[in-house]
Amino acid sequence: MTQAITILGSTGSIGQSTLDVLARNLDKFSVYALTANTNADKLLAQIKQYQPQHVVMVDAKAAELLRTNLKNLSNPPQLHVGAQALCDVASAAPIHGVMAAIVGAAGLLPTLAAAKAGKTIYLANKEALVMSGQLFMQTVKDHGATVLPVDSEHNAIFQSLPTDNQNRSLKEMGVKRLILTASGGPFRDTPVAELASVTPEQACAHPNWVMGKKISVDSATMMNKGLEVIEAHWLFNAALAQIDVIVQPQSVIHSMVEYIDGSVLAELGLPDMRTPIAQALGLPERIESGVGSLDFNQLSQLDFKPLALERYPMMRLAYEAIEEGGTAPACLNAANEVAVAAFLAEEIGFTQIPQVVEQVLANIPAISADTLEAILAIDAQARIQANLLIQSLSQGESSAA
Ligand code: NAD
Ligand code: MG
Repeated sequence: MTQAITILGSTGSIGQSTLDVLARNLDKFSVYALTANTNADKLLAQIKQYQPQHVVMVDAKAAELLRTNLKNLSNPPQLHVGAQALCDVASAAPIHGVMAAIVGAAGLLPTLAAAKAGKTIYLANKEALVMSGQLFMQTVKDHGATVLPVDSEHNAIFQSLPTDNQNRSLKEMGVKRLILTASGGPFRDTPVAELASVTPEQACAHPNWVMGKKISVDSATMMNKGLEVIEAHWLFNAALAQIDVIVQPQSVIHSMVEYIDGSVLAELGLPDMRTPIAQALGLPERIESGVGSLDFNQLSQLDFKPLALERYPMMRLAYEAIEEGGTAPACLNAANEVAVAAFLAEEIGFTQIPQVVEQVLANIPAISADTLEAILAIDAQARIQANLLIQSLSQGESSAA
């Protein structure tokens, strides 16, 4: 019997890496559904190769294009259009698990739908957890779902914890602290004064990882690490004081766990997301991922550097948001998504991303985040505020020019 899997966001970087791993293990898995936002060509190519039973195209225009092309296939999948269908394929009875690999808040509702249906969730979409940590973890618990971390740091921590870690506290397992590693991003050594003029292309040129554009910019601002601290807080029920961040420029140590006896366990490997994806999918077995061996003869050194918080205002904002609690992380996330999109569209500069996020956080008081409605309302409000700020920033610039 194969396990049927839905891949939310199959046309993205994590989605494609997931399909690559599944293709190596077709004796164990089958592809139930694939989903995309707008990329009809890539989804069509994936349909031909993996023959899913269902596909979802969120964008109506792209769906029409795909529908025309599906007519030429002898055994086409059922095509569904719109965001609601994401929830349907993430919770469908035949599936065992869902790869949650949509980028941003758009992934929240389908990932929650998978949790409500008691599925195994392979979680890449950290934004969903950041927005709704308490509600999401409670939903998982209430419905007997399982969350397995795919984000490389959290997957490394998961692998460095005892195998029966799922319902045990860090204290029970003798864990002293979690140590998240960070590459430092493309601007680790760029003088702070030069950051205002860096381009989207420079920001997306990550030294070690090939990723989607949004997470690449988040890695450059270090918002990614801020989101990951929040992610670790919820996934492992860790207090902020138990989560440390260290810069490990080679991205070979993917994160570590320190125990009360002084032991530090780490997971090492090449920086390739197929490793954590295969580890999560394969559990409790190990499966092939296609990732090569770490060559210790070539690896001349492993460096560590303290995190220079003054370089990364986004990290400070992320810590402040989680300390404030309630809807503050959802607000942080939404403002960041809008600011990053504006930076990628060259409407604002790189150093204006934290300015927008800080202002939006200051303008919108946090409220309790125990309902989905509250979270979505703050998300919407933060997007409106961020867009207004961006408009005034870019108008200010054009009137100054
Ligand atoms: P990506 O931009 O390459 O792909 C995003 C996917 O989401 C695409 O399939 C796209 O069609 C879909 N999508 C985008 N907007 C959507 C919308 N509004 N509705 C429905 N679908 C939509 O992103 P990625 O790099 O693959 O990242 C995906 C997630 O995984 C992010 O949350 C990211 O933080 C996380 N992650 C990525 C990496 C990595 O190496 N790429 C590592 C760790 C975690
Ligand atoms: Mg990561």
